[in-house]
Amino acid sequence: MSYCVNCGVELHKSATFCPLCNTVVINPGNPPDSQAKTPYPAEMGSVENVNSRAAALLLTVVFASIALAALLLNLLLFKEGFWSAFIMGASLMLWVFTVPVLILRPSRLLIILLDGAVTSLYCFIIAHQTEDTSWYYGIALPIIIMLTGFVFLYCYIMRRFKTSILFRIALIFGELGSYAVGIELSIRYFLYDSLSIRWSAVVGTSCLIIVAVLTTVMKNSRLREEVQRRLHF
Ligand SMILES: [Zn+2]
Repeated sequence: MSYCVNCGVELHKSATFCPLCNTVVINPGNPPDSQAKTPYPAEMGSVENVNSRAAALLLTVVFASIALAALLLNLLLFKEGFWSAFIMGASLMLWVFTVPVLILRPSRLLIILLDGAVTSLYCFIIAHQTEDTSWYYGIALPIIIMLTGFVFLYCYIMRRFKTSILFRIALIFGELGSYAVGIELSIRYFLYDSLSIRWSAVVGTSCLIIVAVLTTVMKNSRLREEVQRRLHF
């Protein structure tokens, strides 16, 4: 029986390295037995995959039962109006938010587009249950499309290019400023038929100043090193 000279753990007779601290086993009186069967499995386990599939199945069953129960109650018991459309739409939306993430893990860009599409669909369902649908086309849809576009653009740039933390922060602020301006433009155009901005001009200008400062820091290598050292990037 050997013991690790570094951490003192008891070693299996087949061990050539300590399983805990990776120290080489050298015991002249009792060298590692290369013929002995190792106590560790030869293949890596894949517990996580099974778990995520099981979770996806469970979520599918839960959301499908909620939607079905709402539909049946609507058709058989509480027949006033088509209220179950809200619950079925919400179940579909939550399903799209959660299950593709568990199954299609590598394709994040596709997931963003799916989430944007299903959110638009849900608002569409709500709009068509109410009398007035103009808010959907005037405000909700533009805001959802812009948000999806900004998140998609951010993730696409992260994936396609090697970027520094400073660049990422600048990109986030640039997108936030543009998003604020976009939201106010759609609201004002919807309410007053005018393409003008007020509060978002303040937000947009602040974001623009931050982007300008960060761009200056990124362009000046000595300044960049100083900032990175002080902020531990
Ligand atoms: Zn050890």
